[in-house]
Amino acid sequence: MNDAQRIAKVGAYLARATRWHCPVCGRTPIFPRVATIRRVVDWFMPLDGCPRCGYAFEREPGYFLMAMWALNSGFASLLGLIVYFALEMAFDLSPLAQVGLAAMAIAGFNVLFARHAKAYFIAVDHLLDPHDRGGGDDRGNQRLRPRPQAPGPGRPDAPEPCETVPSVR
Ligand SMILES: [Zn+2]
Repeated sequence: MNDAQRIAKVGAYLARATRWHCPVCGRTPIFPRVATIRRVVDWFMPLDGCPRCGYAFEREPGYFLMAMWALNSGFASLLGLIVYFALEMAFDLSPLAQVGLAAMAIAGFNVLFARHAKAYFIAVDHLLDPHDRGGGDDRGNQRLRPRPQAPGPGRPDAPEPCETVPSVR
């Protein structure tokens, strides 16, 4: 893979994340559609995985912690600082009003950007550590791996079954 192909791959993953779509196939939505949302928490929760390609969106418990901390809160804090200092320079408001408006901007941004933060995190994670690579024992690597099968006719390359160990008395 040359540099142009790598750049195109990164661009494709980020474009899919911007549309909240699966990073692998680019077609299945990561989140429930807005029209089907019944609870507030549905806005923030991704689906289990992609039914088209089997990609697990949440690979393990706490998987999106970094997405929320680094991406969502990081960008929201940056936005809050920008809003605060823009108000400081442009208007003659009290510090309390400036902080209040900046906090409102942060809260709104956190809600609106939460899905993007998770989608970008999934895309970057898939770019750097795709599920079907390596022999890791995390749950995400199990979805695309075929189950070991006992050797038999037509399966000469299947792994040997484990030996049974007699019980110790
Ligand atoms: Zn998919």
